[in-house]
Amino acid sequence: NRITAPEMIPEDVESENPLRPRSLDQYIGQEKAKQNLSIYIEAARGRGEALDHVLLFGPPGLGKTTLSGIVAAEMGVHLRVTSGPAIEKPGDLAALLTNLSPGDVLFIDEIHRLSRSVEEVLYPAMEDFAIDIIIGKGPSARSIRLDLPHFTLVGATTRSGQLAAPLRDRFGIQLRLELYTPEELAQIVNRSASILGIDIDEDGALELASRSRGTPRIANRLLKRVRDFAQVLGEGKINTEIAQQALSRMEIDEMGLDANDRRMLDIIIHVYNGGPVGLDTLAAALGEESVTIEDVYEPYLMQIGFLSRTKQGRMALPPAYAHMGMEYTGQLSF
Ligand code: ADP
Repeated sequence: NRITAPEMIPEDVESENPLRPRSLDQYIGQEKAKQNLSIYIEAARGRGEALDHVLLFGPPGLGKTTLSGIVAAEMGVHLRVTSGPAIEKPGDLAALLTNLSPGDVLFIDEIHRLSRSVEEVLYPAMEDFAIDIIIGKGPSARSIRLDLPHFTLVGATTRSGQLAAPLRDRFGIQLRLELYTPEELAQIVNRSASILGIDIDEDGALELASRSRGTPRIANRLLKRVRDFAQVLGEGKINTEIAQQALSRMEIDEMGLDANDRRMLDIIIHVYNGGPVGLDTLAAALGEESVTIEDVYEPYLMQIGFLSRTKQGRMALPPAYAHMGMEYTGQLSF
């Protein structure tokens, strides 16, 4: 279980997660998305309407679920949470939709994983606030149209490219979440520390932040683990020294890479001569799913300039060689 994996682990999903910001004011970073969203919310509220449907893109752990909760809170409506894989049949979605109250927010995580038949139900629901239900079987079957309350669909996906165009086009508001800067993550770490009653100094927070791969979920998780080290090995306070000691024991290096990231770079550099190597080949060599590599490993490695995605495949860049203690030999040309 990677401590730096941005996917949820049970301790993150506690429904009463006290670290989850509840309002736009508490939501740190993502300034562009936040500013626009606050205008759309204010305008919709002013008109007394449901907010237009919102699509959120971005790697796991960046705050998509959190933002959907904030939208509901700011609009003063209820939030219903589900995910693409959880909605198996059109009837499952129909049941969810018909239980909504006017203005409610329905959050569908991993919306790119909805099946075609479920998507077909979603289109008229999003556009006309109605669903067509088939009653009966065979020649006597007939379809009746059921009106739905005006609701807001908030969809989250890790990559926009995976979403069918007709679905994407039905979202009036589309926001891309970016990886956070170390300074923003340090603010998140400080906020979380004060909520959890953890003693941490400025430098300690920045140390954790700069090793959290641009991801708030990872920053919060590292904070909890480093607290354990501070409590047992130190005097309870997290400073740079304790943070460094704890992170190195967890095998997370100065750049926030863990053993898996380093193994991937090592394979690209040693086995494939720095690349380009195709995604599927790389996945097979690592024993990982391609989507995990794309969603979890790559965004951060690209952000820090260690990796590039080209048409021919993945390539390790000079800073990756330097980090791995290797001399950059340049790519072989054929
Ligand atoms: P996603 O849905 O994108 O996978 P979440 O919304 O579940 O991510 O966020 C993961 C955790 O990170 C949340 O529980 C929250 O504590 C924290 N978090 C995310 N975004 C922010 C933010 N902008 N400010 C403060 N904390 C955040």
